[in-house]
Amino acid sequence: MMVVSLSRVDVLSERLIEFVARVASKISYDQRKLVAISGTSIHKIVVNVVNRVADWVSEDRGGLLWCRLCNRGSFTKRGLYLHLVRVHNFEIKNIVEDELRRELRTSTN
Ligand SMILES: [Zn+2]
Repeated sequence: MMVVSLSRVDVLSERLIEFVARVASKISYDQRKLVAISGTSIHKIVVNVVNRVADWVSEDRGGLLWCRLCNRGSFTKRGLYLHLVRVHNFEIKNIVEDELRRELRTSTN
């Protein structure tokens, strides 16, 4: 089991909001940028968490994008991306943080 500090999970979660919003909105992101943020040792775990949370926060209804956190829609890709990062950034950060803590044994140092 990987040991990652709580403060690192906090900082990492904050930086992953953008990636979750992109995946949820079907907008591509730079894999290398995500590796640079997460580090190679936990990169796969981070990708899984980002994809899972993105699935939870958005929904594709017949090709139209909806926000599942507040049931608003429909949005364009860009519209949903902006909605998620502006309206739900704090919620997304908290969900990501919970998921990362579940998958990584966190230390209190
Ligand atoms: Zn919403």
